[in-house]
Amino acid sequence: MIAALLLALQAPAPAASDTGAVTAIRAGAVIDGTGAAPVKNAVIIIRGERIIAVGANVAIPAGATVIDLSALTVLPGFIDAHVHLASRTLGDGDWQHAGLTMLPAELALLGAAHAQQTLEAGFTTVRDVGSAHFGDIALRNAINAGWVPGPRIFAAGVLFGITGGHCDETDGLVPGLLGHEAGVEEGVADGVDGVRAAVRTMVKYGADVIKICATGGVLSLTDSVGAQQYSEEEMRAIVETAHGLSRRVAAHAHGTEGIKAAVRAGVTSIEHGTILDSEAVALMVQHGTWLVPTLMAGDQAMHLVEAGRLPPPIAAKARAIVPRVQSSFRLALRAGVKIALGTDAGVYQHGRNAHEFTLMVRYGMTPMQSIEAGTLSAATLLGRETEVGSLTTGKFADIVAVKGDPLQDITTLEHVDFVMKGGAVFKRDGQVMGRSDAGVP
Ligand SMILES: [Zn+2]
Repeated sequence: MIAALLLALQAPAPAASDTGAVTAIRAGAVIDGTGAAPVKNAVIIIRGERIIAVGANVAIPAGATVIDLSALTVLPGFIDAHVHLASRTLGDGDWQHAGLTMLPAELALLGAAHAQQTLEAGFTTVRDVGSAHFGDIALRNAINAGWVPGPRIFAAGVLFGITGGHCDETDGLVPGLLGHEAGVEEGVADGVDGVRAAVRTMVKYGADVIKICATGGVLSLTDSVGAQQYSEEEMRAIVETAHGLSRRVAAHAHGTEGIKAAVRAGVTSIEHGTILDSEAVALMVQHGTWLVPTLMAGDQAMHLVEAGRLPPPIAAKARAIVPRVQSSFRLALRAGVKIALGTDAGVYQHGRNAHEFTLMVRYGMTPMQSIEAGTLSAATLLGRETEVGSLTTGKFADIVAVKGDPLQDITTLEHVDFVMKGGAVFKRDGQVMGRSDAGVP
């Protein structure tokens, strides 16, 4: 009874009806996100929050509001499959101890600022693969309710791993600070029973996806970066429990053995995938596992190393593995591994996400391949390919536009001129539109 009442209280507001106002966009060219060739002089018709027609021979209905983007290239809203919104940005102040020195509410408010920067950059959907104190879930709910602007968020809640591992927020601290052993809210779950409970806890508090640390990481003080952390047995238990609750699993993994174990265990995506070999990419192809390469994270880590802004043990780990990023990406691309765009925003400043397209092209993708990775492929990784990721009839009207032709110069995607999310214009002529009170109670 109480559970039923809570559910009723938490039910989302009804979606804008399909009988809403009609808007027509005149596009100089449309790149629809499916990999199809661009269509010149196309028209997109939107009713309420959805696309109802798109193409070169679409007539504009009488009474429609017309948005003239005929000088621009129009694309689906971008999707970043690896961000950390409600977290302090790496290199900014005492980022390592933000979870101890900043109030949970403070981190969530910071997340709201990051969410706005992300939307301004044309990213209308993100997968947040872990924010402390469930800040990403709070932010998702606030954005869905219309309290603050931001992308659609697919949230992991708290990311977790082994005691002393990359996900352990108390790693490097003296014992006893918490008054109890670190648990799942601090990013720790050990053993088959422990990880099953951790998955259930995340889902209980609203996680859309489960994020684990399969191996060590760069930005943690004490663990060895390439080492496998979860056993394959633990990861199988995580995947089985998550799938039973209709959730997918994203695994942070740098080292080769940990990557292979995670793939065999059935995770949906390998995050970073820094040290791949031919067996690892063959396994990923065989299992249909996604790679989210986070090229910007490696780039930024080396910037911070050179600027002397990382503690020595972390700088040493970055120096050891970042040089492998590019060759692993090329290996995966050649082998035909499914690749979705993800940037690790939070490692660098939020809002620069589209630079990942540029790095993907620099490291071997065609511009069209990188656009697919950051639109329909990323939507498919999230399991949201019927809702977002392409300019297709029936999908949410999540639309961006840029000056110039991104197929000739991919860096045009780093300067988004127009952003619409769910049929509502958020940015036009490079300017963010005024705020709306529509969702504020
Ligand atoms: Zn990350």
